Amino acid sequence: MSRVPIERDVPLAGRTTLRLGGAARYFARATEDAHVLSAVRHAADRGLPLALLGGGSNTIVPDEGFRGLVLSMEIVGHTLTPMDDGRVALRVKAGTPWPEVVSLSVAQGLAGLECLAGIPGSTGATPVQNVGAYGQEVADTLLAVRALDRGTLDEVTFTREACEFAYRDSLFKRDPHRYVVLEVAFALQPGGAPALRYAELTRAMEALCPGGQPTLQQVHDTVVALRREKGMVLDEADVDTRSAGSFFTNPIVTAQQVEQVRERAFAAGLVSEKGEVPSWPESGERVKLAAGWLIEHAGVTKGLRRGNVGVSSKHALALVHHGGGTTAELLALADEVAARVAATFGVALQREPQLLTGVLA
Ligand SMILES: Cc1cc2nc3c(=O)[nH]c(=O)nc-3n(C[C@H](O)[C@H](O)[C@H](O)COP(=O)(O)OP(=O)(O)OC[C@H]3O[C@@H](n4cnc5c(N)ncnc54)[C@H](O)[C@@H]3O)c2cc1C
Repeated sequence: MSRVPIERDVPLAGRTTLRLGGAARYFARATEDAHVLSAVRHAADRGLPLALLGGGSNTIVPDEGFRGLVLSMEIVGHTLTPMDDGRVALRVKAGTPWPEVVSLSVAQGLAGLECLAGIPGSTGATPVQNVGAYGQEVADTLLAVRALDRGTLDEVTFTREACEFAYRDSLFKRDPHRYVVLEVAFALQPGGAPALRYAELTRAMEALCPGGQPTLQQVHDTVVALRREKGMVLDEADVDTRSAGSFFTNPIVTAQQVEQVRERAFAAGLVSEKGEVPSWPESGERVKLAAGWLIEHAGVTKGLRRGNVGVSSKHALALVHHGGGTTAELLALADEVAARVAATFGVALQREPQLLTGVLA
């Protein structure tokens, strides 16, 4: 078996988009599947907790760092294989940067991932929170996930149904210390039309090609441009992108709770009509609220600063690190934002990025 080299005391801040937090006591880079098994065994044999890191774009590292082994997923590569039903299977190794995967699928004329352009991070992390944006999510086209079960050390292949996808959620997120995603396969449509399901994107495409069918590339580029305006494309020169993207998920609530939110907003004079509170039907009887709207209407303004951290000046949902800050500062700001939303609307916001934690392998 190919042994993975283990390093000591490796700073993690530079490996995350927030640029916050301490060091990993032990650190290893998996550049081939065998390294993953080796790292899992290494941690188990020594009683060390093990945590996984992809691109670090949805991870918060505690200031005290991590006293176990951090395994950086750096296995890259992809294959394209025609399927019997005319679709093409795109199989991607976990460490492959996601923006490259979206770009190559669009360049090949394969529909299904075009609206997910500009989302940072690794491919292996995309099924974890069922990454989504602009009306598309990976669950729409995901064919299978190949993973290592840390408990049995066996490789397991999950069908899409077995991944139990929901809004920003999956089996892998609910059971975060059990599987290491090694490869993700998507079934994409050659020559397929781009997905235009999101009003803001549809309007932008209509403006770009009135009455016509936009290409996958046009949709890809428009999504990136829209995201850039919101500080949602990584850019060293833009401090608003030193974030973990959306810090909170959009709350999924009951129809009764939506009514309460509308009443509170109306009573507080935040809307002139109750229907102005944005909401979308979700599966079942549930309704999705816009976390960004709730935050801004709870009095948290874009650009708010608390020491070295703050709210993005472009997007109320993103918390940003201005430099020289601590994770404690960031989490305190997150608590403040959530408390204001709870006090104004009675809605509990849920954090989207994951705190780097691990359990014994
Ligand atoms: C500017 C910005 C914009 C963003 N926009 C969006 C958006 O539009 N939509 C969206 O959904 N997300 C968005 N995100 C969040 C983030 O990019 C995604 O969640 C992304 O998939 C995280 O990938 P990563 O490799 O960086 O994950 P990491 O932060 O490295 O890890 C995230 C979690 O996944 C686990 N994990 C990572 N790799 C594996 C693996 N191989 N197997 C098992 N578990 C693994 C980690 O342990 C951790 O719990 C944004 C983030 C930023 C910074």
